[in-house]
Amino acid sequence: PLDKDELGRSTWGFLHSMASYYPDKPTRREAEDMSKFFNIFSKFYPCEPCALDFQEDIKKNPPRTDSKDHLAKWLCERHNTVNLKLGKPLFDCSKIHERWRDGWKD
Ligand code: FAD
Repeated sequence: PLDKDELGRSTWGFLHSMASYYPDKPTRREAEDMSKFFNIFSKFYPCEPCALDFQEDIKKNPPRTDSKDHLAKWLCERHNTVNLKLGKPLFDCSKIHERWRDGWKD
């Protein structure tokens, strides 16, 4: 089985990649489906304390699915909420596409 950290790293990789490849101008249907995806995801994420806190967090901060940049920033902020809770460093959300789509510039 995956432990909580392995599961978390893989899942964040998937979620941030999905947000970075979301359309700049989603259709209404795409925007609705993406909101539903996160709501359903939060019910079935297989770490119960993680899922319960994530449900609370996205109730207060619903997914911003009107564009790629808004979705990626919203998700970066949700991940930072978890980072804060776990005492990890916060990520600079202006670098989100560089990290998860384009690759680091050096
Ligand atoms: P991770 O936090 O897994 O991050 C992986 C990589 O993402 C980092 O190396 C960095 O390059 C990048 N990154 C970091 N922050 C951001 C950001 N804000 N935006 C974009 N990219 C970023 N663990 C618990 O112990 N308790 C919990 O309650 C908990 N809740 C979770 C809820 C969810 C929805 C998920 C997906 C995971 C949760 N986890 C939780 C797991 C936890 O977030 C980490 O994944 C785990 O601790 C491993 O951390 P890590 O240091 O390897 O980096």
